[in-house]
Amino acid sequence: MNICYVNGKYLPKKDSKISIEDRGLNFSDSVYEVIAFKSKKILNYNRHLTRLERSLSSLKIKFPFSNVKTLELIIRNLINFNTLNNGFIYLQITRGTSVRNHLFPKLQKPNIIIVLYNSKSTHNFANGVKVITIQDMRWKRCDIKTTSLLANVLGKQTAEDKGVYESLQLNNSNDITEGTTSNVFFVVEDNLIQTYPSNNHILGGVTRDIVIDLAKKNNVKILEKPFNISNIKYIKEAFLTSTTVGVIPIIQIDKMVISDSQPGRVSKKMMTLFNANSKKQMNTINE
Ligand code: PMP
Repeated sequence: MNICYVNGKYLPKKDSKISIEDRGLNFSDSVYEVIAFKSKKILNYNRHLTRLERSLSSLKIKFPFSNVKTLELIIRNLINFNTLNNGFIYLQITRGTSVRNHLFPKLQKPNIIIVLYNSKSTHNFANGVKVITIQDMRWKRCDIKTTSLLANVLGKQTAEDKGVYESLQLNNSNDITEGTTSNVFFVVEDNLIQTYPSNNHILGGVTRDIVIDLAKKNNVKILEKPFNISNIKYIKEAFLTSTTVGVIPIIQIDKMVISDSQPGRVSKKMMTLFNANSKKQMNTINE
């Protein structure tokens, strides 16, 4: 049975309902988070919580739980009520239900949806993935994790239609900012990784931040600076990061093959460090 949480109730997915006047549905007036759990332990909870609070406050939606512990308890209950041991928590908070009107309703009662998913990907990520570049068509607040994802949806579908895993966004200066569902890193020298700075043009990924911390702790230098596509021929390796896939090596960008179509040394190192970090958390948190 697949139990989810909607506005205070734990219900089977098929019985849970949300109004047709929900502002998330009408306006994408809502934020979300995707959090991994392994062996029923929630990973990187505080980092996701911090981003959720920032997304909510950017949209002037009140944090709809009495405190942060309440939300953690709800998520833990949900994990315990379901049979899945490993998977992802999808949490969505909308501005609530009101007669359709662009203006915020006077009385705001957010709608809360929390549902668990397992990982069903068919890609073999450890062997690396191919990606393409596309023109970034998104708005100027990509740092807010909102459900307004149409440009990302179209970009991801373009990748699928071309038989590759991801599309990388190119801005007007031809800098590669991030993927449609991931952040991107370029190994530009033996021990130097470059990635777009965390600003309003990308979603500051939780996995991105962890990888940056792990790199610094392990004597790999990080340069947070826009990477221009004109320099693509000089890179040694590249990889993607996201909560749902962790660290995945890139073996081709558009027509250009990277590190002989094999996951590169630094990418594999970051993948190993990231997986070890998740494992360590599984043994130490949520006891
Ligand atoms: N950028 C975008 C546009 C994303 O959708 C995601 C995943 N939601 C990421 C980056 C990666 O973020 P995280 O590591 O927190 O999953």
